[in-house]
Amino acid sequence: MRLSQYFLPTLKENPAEAKIASHRLMLRAGLVRQTGSGLYIWLPLGLRVLKKIENIVREEQDRSGAQEILMPTIQNADLWKESGRYEAYGKEMLRITDRHGKEMLYGPTNEEMITDLFRNNVQSYKDLPKNLYHIQWKFRDEVRPRYGVMRGREFLMKDNYSFDIDKEAAKISYDKMFVAYLKTFARLGLVAIPVRADTGAIGGELSHEFQILAAEGESTIYYDKAIESFDLKSLAEDISPDIIQKLQSIYAVEEEKHDADNCPVAKENLRIAKGVEAGHIFNFGTKYSEVMNAKVSGSDGSMIAVEMGSYGIGVSRLVGAIIEASNDENGIIWPEAAAPYKVGLINLGAKNEECTEACDALYKKMQAAGIEVLYDDRKAGAGQKFATMDLIGVPYQIILGPRGLKNNSAEFKIRKTGEKTEINLDEIVSKFI
Ligand code: ATP
Ligand code: MG
Repeated sequence: MRLSQYFLPTLKENPAEAKIASHRLMLRAGLVRQTGSGLYIWLPLGLRVLKKIENIVREEQDRSGAQEILMPTIQNADLWKESGRYEAYGKEMLRITDRHGKEMLYGPTNEEMITDLFRNNVQSYKDLPKNLYHIQWKFRDEVRPRYGVMRGREFLMKDNYSFDIDKEAAKISYDKMFVAYLKTFARLGLVAIPVRADTGAIGGELSHEFQILAAEGESTIYYDKAIESFDLKSLAEDISPDIIQKLQSIYAVEEEKHDADNCPVAKENLRIAKGVEAGHIFNFGTKYSEVMNAKVSGSDGSMIAVEMGSYGIGVSRLVGAIIEASNDENGIIWPEAAAPYKVGLINLGAKNEECTEACDALYKKMQAAGIEVLYDDRKAGAGQKFATMDLIGVPYQIILGPRGLKNNSAEFKIRKTGEKTEINLDEIVSKFI
């Protein structure tokens, strides 16, 4: 993409309404624009990031054996009345009436709809286990939408739902998701601490939140430093049952659940940090299958309410969370997996014909090789170009000017470290493929 043609409204100044780094940077780097309270327009650059994250989430779901479907955003209120949540959900639910006076709602989550889908289509234990997911927009009328896309009202979520015949099988489904989440966050270059949503008492609910460490996160978490030995950022392909077991039992809780007097972790081993909740996995047993009568016939012919779990990842929140965890005073620093482009090509001699020709040729070569490249071909000063590319945060920069061209070389810059080296023009393409 040529920057001269790109719809990329960047801002020099920090927008007053943005209180945290990710919100400021998403506005400044032209990723999103707000169109109402908690409502955001995804601009071309932001949408590329959102899609990248969505795809990684999808790949790990598929790899875990979950199957993708797509449910509508709008739901009938009837199902929610059946489960008893229509009233219970309260003001966070956006309620709508259609032209026939029928009560509808914009889905904040999909347990009811999927339980209905399941009971209408699955009758036997032989069809279990099943795990279905979708990646769809949700609406929650949050009391305080804030921090940009991190707590929006309309936001993109991956949610899936598992169905099993008994508790043992349900735990297997839970662990598969636990692993899929670890892998998803590792691929995004994130440290996401699995935080027990219960206090760890035996018989408590099976539930973990995945908290990304970030200085300005909304949650405060207390955890055993033993978790740091797991190298969550670069988890290998195989995550053994032993590691799953250890990670699930390590002490990590939100502040409200931390009781200093009864904490099992010695003071010197306890870490306190801020986090952003990026995902939540939850086994809730037969809560919905009982009230909504989602039963299958067992091997002995009896009718059994299925064991269910639900698993969410805040896909749009992750865009903010990644930035929150990875930025500096100059802008965003994208991990490669989520970066909107891999390379930024800067033409330092846009008014110089020879240099422009060389840059254009390099740009074409990189594109032809399938390298995702953002080309700053604008007739602007060097300072402005450097600032824009740093702000946008693509992982690598190639800076080519008339002086370097004389030696057939450009500057190669790593955004994260600021490290710069000379690179021969003929070696650039192979460097990125
Ligand atoms: P929170 O405590 O942050 O409100 P939650 O417990 O309501 O989250 P879940 O119902 O478990 O969240 O939803 C699954 C995921 O969706 C969360 O882990 C989070 O990443 C994301 N999410 C929830 N609410 C929002 C929101 N208002 N804006 C963006 N993402 C959200
Ligand atoms: Mg919430």
